[in-house]
Amino acid sequence: MLDDKNKQRTSLSELGEFGLIHHLTDQIKLTNKSTIKGVGDDAAVLEFKNKQVLVTTDLLVEGIHFDLAYMPLKHLGYKAVMVNLSDVYAMNGTATQITVSIALSNRFPLEAIEELYAGIHLACKNYKVDLVGGDTTSSTKGLLICITAIGVADKKDVVYRKGARPNDLLVVTGDLGASYLGMQVLEREKQVFQANPNAQPDLDNYTYLVERQLKPEARKDIPVLLKELGVKPTSMIDISDGLSSEIIHICQQSKVGCSLFEDKIPLDPQVISTCEEFKIDSTMVALSGGEDYELLFTIDTDDYPKIKANPSLTVIGHMTDQQEGMHLITRGNQKVELTAQGWNSFLKNK
Ligand code: ADP
Ligand code: MG
Repeated sequence: MLDDKNKQRTSLSELGEFGLIHHLTDQIKLTNKSTIKGVGDDAAVLEFKNKQVLVTTDLLVEGIHFDLAYMPLKHLGYKAVMVNLSDVYAMNGTATQITVSIALSNRFPLEAIEELYAGIHLACKNYKVDLVGGDTTSSTKGLLICITAIGVADKKDVVYRKGARPNDLLVVTGDLGASYLGMQVLEREKQVFQANPNAQPDLDNYTYLVERQLKPEARKDIPVLLKELGVKPTSMIDISDGLSSEIIHICQQSKVGCSLFEDKIPLDPQVISTCEEFKIDSTMVALSGGEDYELLFTIDTDDYPKIKANPSLTVIGHMTDQQEGMHLITRGNQKVELTAQGWNSFLKNK
């Protein structure tokens, strides 16, 4: 439905592996000073002066992490890069290079892989990252994409998950839950489409949700903003699995507890209206939805005046002693324990 049906289908076997790699990488223009040699030799050559190097990798498997029925390949390529860059930004670094490895079955024509790479190249351009290598192989069935991102930060700027202290404020960027709802909307449209292939998807009321699912943007701006504001978070993580599980990671690694306030969780109006329509709890969606690719961090209370006026940043709670545990304080002022799936009372209600 959302993807353009490719008219032309050029078999990959016509090009061969090397022809395909050349075809996908020959227009790359390197932009980072740290990239000495990109695609074309046995290894890329990178040079970082007086920096700490950040390396992160993610593997995406068709049928597990994405469904090509509603994920256009160009978006998939873009999103696969975002997922990785987000991890670099979560270390308070700058992303500089990626490598892309793909396994393809012969069900994919060249035009499909071109689409995938159009998304990858666009992400590299928008985020000023060089594509410096990868690997290409065949698979028996689905599509696999493995991206490794490389980034840099000054040693003094790197932020780990483990540095939060009691009384630190818990801050989140952007808003939460939209990506998960976008997927629910697309799932519903897919079922409608399967029942009636002539049905036109009606996504007008869900534009923001669908965009957050199909074209997420990693928060490249946040390490820059924090530097401008003169704030170094005490801990940071990106929100890939849902707010709840990321808070738990910070708490466990930092050996602290936390109080998260339900009424402070930032939600887009489309998230609120769609939760009403789908009869699901918006807090649950924010806590457990995932794929928001926002950043979650903690700061010293002394830094609060520096961030409080910023529209991208919302204080949603504070850290406590570890013995106090990890809690959500509901709108009704009830204290419920946070779990990786949301919170306990939700699980009991299921
Ligand atoms: P090798 O046999 O040494 O693994 P390859 O023939 O696989 O080399 O790759 C040749 C060059 O093309 C290398 O620089 C490699 O990093 C790059 N490359 C291979 N596959 C991809 C891909 N899917 N995307 C980007 N670069 C790739
Ligand atoms: Mg190879």
